[in-house]
Amino acid sequence: MTALKLTNVCKSFGQVDVLKNIDLEVEEGEFVVFVGPSGCGKSTLLRVIAGLEDATEGTVEIGGQIVNQIPPAKRGIAMVFQSYALYPHLSVQGNMALGLKQEKQPRQVIDERVAMAGRMLSLEDYLDRRPSELSGGQRQRVAIGRAIVREPKLFLFDEPLSNLDAALRMNTRIEIARLHRQLAASMVYVTHDQTEAMTLADKIVVLRDGRVEQIGSPMELYNDPANQFVAGFLGAPS
Ligand code: ADP
Ligand code: MG
Repeated sequence: MTALKLTNVCKSFGQVDVLKNIDLEVEEGEFVVFVGPSGCGKSTLLRVIAGLEDATEGTVEIGGQIVNQIPPAKRGIAMVFQSYALYPHLSVQGNMALGLKQEKQPRQVIDERVAMAGRMLSLEDYLDRRPSELSGGQRQRVAIGRAIVREPKLFLFDEPLSNLDAALRMNTRIEIARLHRQLAASMVYVTHDQTEAMTLADKIVVLRDGRVEQIGSPMELYNDPANQFVAGFLGAPS
């Protein structure tokens, strides 16, 4: 079963073509990483998948259903951004519960899912704290928790670790890999960090100037990059 399928996805802002004829598939349970230089369209592509931007052309299929006309909240996805965007006046519990309250989930379901996400992310002792009382790493874990409680079929991560220092980045990366195994969910993860791409990905999609340059497993891209550009990003040092 295909978790995500993009067919000829194009996105223009006015005269500017930002995404050009993107075709790709994410299998159920797969961890797919998008890499490419700043400005190549990674965030725009995630936003089109999430429904925060409309594709100018092409189709977005999630779980076998074309979702171009379906609003973001009904696509079965959850997105984690680089900036945590937590609500400062709400507790950790309140921040994680908010999306579920908006979905009008019963109180018991909300409490169970928040407790579970708290345990998964080692936040169970922090549920009553405000974001200002947490470290940067803990805040980012709350943002991940907020996605987990939605029980999405597909997670979208946009450079979730880039605001963290090196040690926390490694810990959180390992945490995300563990969550992927534990949840058996499909994940699409944007980064410009080679280590993150090589260690997390089942499959890497290299983007350049709004196009797919190469798709392959980390080892395929490392050992057999299609060109100098891919080699420069991920290839073996020559
Ligand atoms: P990345 O995430 O790979 O750094 P982005 O997807 O953020 O790249 O941006 C790709 C290109 O699209 C950039 O040139 C950016 O300026 C442009 N862009 C992104 N969003 C908009 C927008 N809302 N309006 C106009 N141009 C945009
Ligand atoms: Mg970006």
